[in-house]
Amino acid sequence: MDFERYPDSPYLHLTRADVIEAACGVDIVGTVAEALMLHSAGQTALPEEAYLGWTTPRGDSARLLAMPGALLQDGRPPVVGMKTINASLGNPARGIPRSQGFTLLLDPETARPVALMEAAYISAMRTAAVTALAVRHLAVPSPRKLALIGCGALAQAHAALLLRTVPTLRTLALHDVAPDRAEALAAYVASLPEGAKVETVPAGSAREAVRDAEVVVPVTTVTQGYIEPDWLRPGALVCHVSLDDLTEAAVLAADTVIVDDWSLVRDDPRRLLGRMHRAGTLLGPDGAPRDGVTARPGARRVDAVLGDVLAGRHPGRRHQDETIISNPFGMSILDVAVADRIHARAEAAGLGTRLTL
Ligand code: NAD
Repeated sequence: MDFERYPDSPYLHLTRADVIEAACGVDIVGTVAEALMLHSAGQTALPEEAYLGWTTPRGDSARLLAMPGALLQDGRPPVVGMKTINASLGNPARGIPRSQGFTLLLDPETARPVALMEAAYISAMRTAAVTALAVRHLAVPSPRKLALIGCGALAQAHAALLLRTVPTLRTLALHDVAPDRAEALAAYVASLPEGAKVETVPAGSAREAVRDAEVVVPVTTVTQGYIEPDWLRPGALVCHVSLDDLTEAAVLAADTVIVDDWSLVRDDPRRLLGRMHRAGTLLGPDGAPRDGVTARPGARRVDAVLGDVLAGRHPGRRHQDETIISNPFGMSILDVAVADRIHARAEAAGLGTRLTL
């Protein structure tokens, strides 16, 4: 074989517009539910993700995430891929999204790339789909008020998906440290087909937004917790998407804590639950502290993974007044599962550009 000239190796390149068009034909919530249940049945491969942080030349925090994953469903070829999603906190001020990247799918036989697509749309929608499933299985019946704290890209994805999947919602409380982002989100909500059914209420503080909300979704970029346990109404579900908004006291006071994958949460030293595990205040689902760490008095256990709730192995909500935290670390297998369906739709619809290595 000629080292300098590979045989043609075509792959499909999908821009964000292609991804969005193809996604119209994909049931993202259903795809994510299937992937969560495969994960709970042990039919996935989910290696630890790689994290590289740096300070940009202009002084902003930036990071690269590389997240490989595979679905290993019995009787079907594996679905293998990787998301790399990369962010600079300075981007919104430049008028560009904070994070963006690629999701890559490989041929399961040759391990060659078959598709490369814009990652941030799928990432936001699969994350919102996890929240939609958490609401379906863990919220009080017929929730009416949703609080979105942080009004960026993830908040938009949540508003779009939750208005479709939670038809009882009547109030969206919106809070952002940048009030113009909350205003822009309110305008976006008003432009949605379901937007007429809800009232958007700007909230001057996170505490005001959270008051009386049955569903609370923090989607900020904070690294220090601020949501205290007494801010939450009895029966609240907190979908802790941005992972660092709850205080340790709020986690310890919750009746039930659900994660998407314990090993990702456990192995991460940066986010709240991983830090609590290192400090001996959070025990794994098996009730064990971290190796070499002594459990502190008052430490609490993680109750279950979301896939177990979906598969009926954990009851989910047990009573009306239970406060529940769903802490979705974010699993590559969800991006890979959704990307695989989007790739199939794009091939069928003739979307994208064929490139070669
Ligand atoms: P973004 O930059 O588009 O939006 C974040 C918004 O939060 C901004 O409008 C910012 O002004 C606001 N904000 C920052 N600090 C705040 C505070 N203290 N109070 C209120 N608002 C505040 O970011 P995004 O793409 O929407 O992502 C939001 C978060 O979701 C990020 O932390 C990201 O890492 C996380 N995320 C989690 C998952 C997951 O699976 N768990 C997946 C994707 C993104």
